[in-house]
Amino acid sequence: MSVLVTGGAGYIGSHMVLELLDAGEKPLVLDNLSTGFAWAVPEGVPLIIGDFGDEALVTKLIAEHGITAIIHFAAKIVVPESVSDPLGYYENNTAKARNLIACAVKCGVQHFIFSSTAAVYGEPKANPVTESEPLLPVSPYGRSKLMVEWMLEDTSRAHDLRHVVLRYFNVAGADPKGRTGQSTPNATHLIKVAVQAALGHRKGMEVFSTDYPTPDGSCLRDYIQVTDLVRAHMDALRYLRQGGDSLTCNCGYAKGYSVLDVIGVVKKVSGVDFPVTLSGRRPGDPAAIVASNTRVREKLGWTPLFDDLPTIVKQALDWERRLHNRLTQSNGVKK
Ligand code: UDP
Repeated sequence: MSVLVTGGAGYIGSHMVLELLDAGEKPLVLDNLSTGFAWAVPEGVPLIIGDFGDEALVTKLIAEHGITAIIHFAAKIVVPESVSDPLGYYENNTAKARNLIACAVKCGVQHFIFSSTAAVYGEPKANPVTESEPLLPVSPYGRSKLMVEWMLEDTSRAHDLRHVVLRYFNVAGADPKGRTGQSTPNATHLIKVAVQAALGHRKGMEVFSTDYPTPDGSCLRDYIQVTDLVRAHMDALRYLRQGGDSLTCNCGYAKGYSVLDVIGVVKKVSGVDFPVTLSGRRPGDPAAIVASNTRVREKLGWTPLFDDLPTIVKQALDWERRLHNRLTQSNGVKK
C-alpha cells in the first residue's frame, strides 16, 4: 500500500515525503525534475523521473507499487509566467491533471488529495475568506487550478473516487530538522527573497507598492509553515481512509501580515538591516487575502504547530544558509 506523490522532489512535495515516512507510510515520488531536485527525495524512497500526465507510466506505477492514494503537487506555479504562457499552464496544470485523475479512476485508486491555491478566490471582498466565497481567479494559474477542482468534483460524483482539495495560502519556512526547504533558484516569494537579502545573497529587495487599502499600505497575506501544511495532507489522508466525503479546505493560519511586517521580522530575526526599496505594484497582486481555517480544523482535525512568523523566518534563514553551502561546495566557487 503506497502513496503516489507527484512533485515529491519539489518544495512542498519533499516535505510531504518526509511526513509520510515519519508516519510509517510508503511514499513513491513521480517528478520530472523540472523544478525539483533528486537530492530532496530521501534515500530509500523510489523516485520515478517522468510525467504525471503520462497515462501509461502512471497506470504501470499504480499496479506495480500498489498505490492506494495520490497526493498531487506537481504544477507550474509562477503567476506572471501563467499570464504570458496560459496554454503552457492549462496543458501542465489542467490537461495533465485530467490524465492523472483518469488513471486513478481506471486503476481503482479511491483517494486523491489536490494542491489548490488561494488564487482561486482572486481578490476576496472580505477576509478571512471562507471556502464558500465566490471563486473568481484573476490569473491563468488560478484558473488552471480551479478547473482541476471542478474535474475532481464531477469525477467524484460519477466514480468511486473521493478527494480533498487543499487551498494553500502563502507557504513558507522549512523542515524544522533542516532536511529540506525552498530550493528553487530565482524564487520570487517574499520570505525567500527577504531572507536572501538578509544573508547578502542578493543586494536588497523591493516592496511592490505601499498604496494598497491596508493598514500600512502594503499587501496582507497569510503565511503558513510548510510542515503544518503537509500535516493537513496527512489529516486529509486519514479522513479519506476513514470514509470521509470529498471536501475542500483552506490552509492558512487566519492571520494577515503585511509585506512591511514580514520584512521587519526578517530584519529582526537575522539581525541584518538590508536595503529595501519601494517600487510599483506587481500586476495581479490582491491587496489582502487571509484564510478562514475553521473547516480544516473542524473537518480534518488539523492543529498547527508552527503558527509563529519569527519561527518560520528562522527556519527559512537556516535552510537558505544550508542551501547556499551546498551550492557553494558543489560548484567549488562562491556564488
Ligand atoms: N512582494 C514584495 N517583494 C518581493 C516579493 C513579494 O513586495 O520581492 C510582495 C508581493 O507583492 C505580495 C506579497 O509580497 O504582496 C507576497 O508575495 P509572494 O510572491 O510571496 O506570494 P503571493 O501572495 O503572490 O502568492
